[in-house]
Amino acid sequence: MTEKTDKQTHERQWERFAEAVPLIWQQRERILTDLQLFGARTPMRIRMAYVSMKDSGPYPLGVVVRAWSEYAENYTRVCPKCGGQMLIYSFSGSPLSGRSSHSATCTACGYRQLHVDEGSFGRLASPIMRIASEYRDLPKGDALSFEEAVILLKRL
Ligand SMILES: [Zn+2]
Repeated sequence: MTEKTDKQTHERQWERFAEAVPLIWQQRERILTDLQLFGARTPMRIRMAYVSMKDSGPYPLGVVVRAWSEYAENYTRVCPKCGGQMLIYSFSGSPLSGRSSHSATCTACGYRQLHVDEGSFGRLASPIMRIASEYRDLPKGDALSFEEAVILLKRL
């Protein structure tokens, strides 16, 4: 695979993930109780400047959903278009300066905001890293791909 197609595949995956946020949120109960869906792969990982840390992803789908549900005040923003709930599906930042940038999708209207420079890196990174640390032993070899998970979620 050339570097270019590799990058395109990566971008397409993020695109699909961003688009699927409302569907994932709708089906959160199911994801949290179905082991197969819980363990499905997502592209979500924390991109950090200068350092790398344990439990920074990529995260299984259930870990993302737990972070969204249990730490709504950290991962939710108000949609500027419809006032609905936006969920942060990607963020990056620096543990040193504490600055961060995130992207979010509205669960109500699908509106997306990209690379918003706002908020504290620690508030975004800490909860999901803590949740992920509980699932280090989750089997990865036979995990559903994100595409497979979306097909299942759409069928429910
Ligand atoms: Zn909206």
